[in-house]
Amino acid sequence: MDSNQEVDSSNTDSTSITITPTTPTTTTIMTSPPSSSSSSPSTLSRYENQKRRDWNTFGQYLRNHRPPLSLSRCSGAHVLEFLRYLDQFGKTKVHTQLCPFFGHPNPPAPCPCPLRQAWGSLDALIGRLRAAYEENGGKPEANPFGARAVRLYLREVRDSQAKARGISYEKKKRKRPPQPPSLPPPSSS
Ligand SMILES: [Zn+2]
Repeated sequence: MDSNQEVDSSNTDSTSITITPTTPTTTTIMTSPPSSSSSSPSTLSRYENQKRRDWNTFGQYLRNHRPPLSLSRCSGAHVLEFLRYLDQFGKTKVHTQLCPFFGHPNPPAPCPCPLRQAWGSLDALIGRLRAAYEENGGKPEANPFGARAVRLYLREVRDSQAKARGISYEKKKRKRPPQPPSLPPPSSS
């Protein structure tokens, strides 16, 4: 007996409703020209190069991780661990609340406060890694770089650094100008 099985799902005429979480894929829409088959690394944008380097750094971090950690098991908590690990290479002085220069944008003297990664660097880094993760086959819904904990951590870093340096990132928000077009093709004569 034929049942009416077409009632089931075919009446949704909007074909591609993929429920994407609110993470905007930031810069995957960058200028990827309909390129001729030249794929030398020198044609990559600075962003792409940086993204690749960041991705390698993170891969290295995973390989050196104890206990061993594979990308597929990587969670937002591991990303936070990674960000804290990066702080030791930071170059931004972040005053503690005990420091007399806490809140001073331009301290008149050196102080022993730690150097950290600037919030802006971390924020950009996470953006690149989030894109790289998906470009390397990761599922968007499992993207640890888009995890809520990571967003919250970044916000916290931003606020605490803004306070420590006496500046507000809301006021000083600077937009990076769009990258200038790359070099003209050599055959312009
Ligand atoms: Zn200080």
